[in-house]
Amino acid sequence: MTESPPRAWAEINFEAMRHNLRFVRQQSEGQDVMVVIKAEAYGHGLIKTAKALESENPKFFGVANAGEARLLFGAGIKIAPYILGATLPCEREEIAIRGWTPCLCSLEEMKHFDALGSNQPINAHLALDTGMGRGGFLPHQIEGALETLKRCQGIQLTGIGSHLPVADEDPVFTQDQFSRFDQSVDRILQDLETVPDDFSVHLSNSAGLLNFHSRTTNLVRPGLMLYGISPIPEYQDKLQPAMTLKTRISLIHELPKGHGVSYGRTLLSRDTRAAVLGIGYGDGYPRTLSDRGTDVLIHGTRCPLIGRVMMDQIIIDVTDLKNCAPGDEAILFGEDLLASELAQKAGTISWEILAQITPRVARRYS
Ligand SMILES: *Cc1c(COP(=O)(O)O)cnc(C)c1O
Repeated sequence: MTESPPRAWAEINFEAMRHNLRFVRQQSEGQDVMVVIKAEAYGHGLIKTAKALESENPKFFGVANAGEARLLFGAGIKIAPYILGATLPCEREEIAIRGWTPCLCSLEEMKHFDALGSNQPINAHLALDTGMGRGGFLPHQIEGALETLKRCQGIQLTGIGSHLPVADEDPVFTQDQFSRFDQSVDRILQDLETVPDDFSVHLSNSAGLLNFHSRTTNLVRPGLMLYGISPIPEYQDKLQPAMTLKTRISLIHELPKGHGVSYGRTLLSRDTRAAVLGIGYGDGYPRTLSDRGTDVLIHGTRCPLIGRVMMDQIIIDVTDLKNCAPGDEAILFGEDLLASELAQKAGTISWEILAQITPRVARRYS
């Protein structure tokens, strides 16, 4: 007996990610790269992605918390984890001992890390709040932060970073944010007595590095675009989507006009050949795609989703598709039907579409 394959799976293409990383390097004019790998590498698989991209020599792997850094450590990944946000007090001892890089978002965090670094100084970056409101020092707090830092023998400052809240929405604000960031960096670098050779200055996420330029940064922090989806549609053709979400047809049947499909009984407006597919919101295929004109690809043809998305199944209209049979593959998103298209239809963002694919969906790597 052979085990049956999973009903829904995601094919992950590392060659596509490497292509996207080359485009990041080109677009950011050779700056160092922090590969943002949080949330299971946006659903692509944390360890597999880290192993596949380790040889590309990113300067950091950007993670959300100590738990994700620990998974990288446990897998023997040598690239330094960087914690992309304020740390919880209970995470800091582990971060200090393992030598992972935190960003200092408050005086409280700074003082705690200083104490933890009394034997062996901790490499840390200074977080500036230039508009995100998620942690970091405001312009008028920078001087105080630097004064405190000078008394912190337990901390070795190895970088400065900030984050962009609207790089794909508000170019006027973002341009101004870039100049304010550059000015603050000038001020800080003048104030520091010594600046280590490998000091990192970073601001840009994907949208930032695609559309803006800083004169002070030497590191970029792309996430979404590495996985092949552009936050700015004009650049989509430069990228290759790394994930294709697939399932199979379990049943094909003829239903008469006026018959209902799925919960809520969406009534059919014509005699319909309907196909049932083995994927649903229990796999992370959003229920909010119901009744929004969503398509699914079968043999390269777009077929409309009909009725509500269920936990494990969806129903699509294959009346106009001549050849399809139970067992045939269907593509929910990938190269010819982008995750960003689904995001728009579901009323969410591409990041969420990728990150919310659940563990039930097997990942297949190539
Ligand atoms: C998640 C994250 C990124 C990556 O953003 P993308 O829009 O996916 O490129 C960069 N920087 C920080 C601080 C983040 O939290």
